[in-house]
Parts: sequence; C-alpha cells; structure tokens
Amino acid sequence: MKITLILTYSRFGAGFAAAALLAFAAHAGEPGGVQRMYVFNCGESRTNDVSMWSPGVDVGKSRDFSDNCYLIRHGKDLMLWDTGMSDAIADKPEGVTAAGGLLTLWVRRTLASQLRELGVAPTDITHTALSHFHADHCGNANLFTAATLYIQNVEYQAAFGPEPSKFGLAPANYEKLRANPVVKLSGDHDVFGDGSVVILSTPGHTPGHQSLLVRLPKRGAVVLSGDMVHFQENWTNRRIPARNFDREQSARTMERIAHFLAENHAQLWINHDKAQSDALPHAPGYVE
Ligand SMILES: [Zn+2]
Repeated sequence: MKITLILTYSRFGAGFAAAALLAFAAHAGEPGGVQRMYVFNCGESRTNDVSMWSPGVDVGKSRDFSDNCYLIRHGKDLMLWDTGMSDAIADKPEGVTAAGGLLTLWVRRTLASQLRELGVAPTDITHTALSHFHADHCGNANLFTAATLYIQNVEYQAAFGPEPSKFGLAPANYEKLRANPVVKLSGDHDVFGDGSVVILSTPGHTPGHQSLLVRLPKRGAVVLSGDMVHFQENWTNRRIPARNFDREQSARTMERIAHFLAENHAQLWINHDKAQSDALPHAPGYVE
C-alpha cells in the first residue's frame, strides 16, 4: 500500500508554531503525547580535516563526530528518527573510510542489537522519518519496511528519482523504502496531530532536509537537528559546510530555527556534536 499526501504549511510562518503550541496545551492535561525517547549510538566518525564543515576554520584539524538515532514512544506507536550508519560497518572493527578518505567510520554497537535489547523488533516501528538520505542517516533504513515513512517530497524525488548520485546518495542504503507507505511533505508536519512530534522543514544541507521537534514530558521541547548544523561552534557562528546543497537556503534555515527555538523555549540537540551527545543518556536508558 502506498499513501501519498502533499501537505503544505508556511515554511517560515509563526502561525504553524502557534497552532502546534495550542494543540499541545489542549492535550497537556491528558495522558498521551510522547512518553519517552531513546537515544541510540548509531555510529562514530573521525575526520582528518574539520574545515570541510567550517570553511577556513580549523584547517587540517581532526574532529570526532557522534551519530545518533532516536526512538520515540508515543502511546502505542514507535517512531524512529534516522537510522544511522549501516550495521554492516560493525563487521570492520578497524573502521571504514568514506568521503574520499576525509572520514573514518565505526559502528561499535549495531542499531539492530540496541533495538533487540529493548525488546523492539524492526517491524514494531510504526513511523519513521529521515532527516535526509545521506548514508550516515539512512544506513539501516531497509530494516524498517513496515513503518510509514515521512519525508519531504523534494528529498524523496532526489533519492528515488533518476539521478540520486547527483545528490551524493546511494540507493542501496534505502531502496526497500520504495515500497513503504509514505507521507510526502512540502513543509512542516505534525506527525500525531497533538503537537508533540513535529517535522520541521530545514532545507539547505540537502534539498529536502528536515529536523524534528519532540515535546518530552519532563525535559520539554527539543529539536533534533539532523545535519541542519553539525556541531555547536558552527551553530554559534552560523557556519555552513562547504558541501551543503544550497548555501543561502542553509543560512535562512538556521535563522528560522533560531527563532523557532526561542519561541518554543526549545533546546537544540545537535546530532553530530560528540560532546553534547556524550552528555545524553543512551539506550537502554532514555529521556523523558
Ligand atoms: Zn548529511
């Protein structure tokens, strides 16, 4: 079965954020919303020149990156945000090189084993969304064929259209998602209709990149960055990686999210910022 919906919201409008807040307020006193979120270690990487992400800054310096996946429990539903690097990399304890030698990648614990530890089978995942189709975010996507996929239409077209390689994408990583039920988006999208999990359109790194607002019952609102930004110093200084798809769009997206965070009193959780990620409890622990 394939469901195709095109949903449009104002990309920069505060109106949608206000609507999401109202929906949240209406549900705040009731059970429901998000119960908890698990953070998985979905790979680690090291670059020998971080200036590819911060042009002109720290040229020739190495840097370690984290790579997380996130599992959100919402009532009876389980939503997986990003699927990390391929579990196959775990077979190479010495790591594998990528991006023409710029990166070395390791998977110390497979996503499959971390789900198993929680008693979750891949087919239990009811909803999945990818920030984008780069290999370190969709590496295990083919495991989640039972889930409804939420993706921006332009990202879907890049991934499943005639020239994925033009966008630096490798379809082998995600080919099985072609048969999933899919909700194609053209902007923000309130996944469960209660304001607790909202996909935010954040184009620039890729044509249809997206981030995720999660309203946790105790910690409050967090925005999962995807690759909207890669580490804190780049966020503070609004630096844009050399390989981003669209530089101007990237800059507009960062401004939009900065306003969104302020309006919603939300924290930004930067996926590849290792210091920030290391401070979070990882599965089987969880955040509430
Ligand atoms: Zn990326």
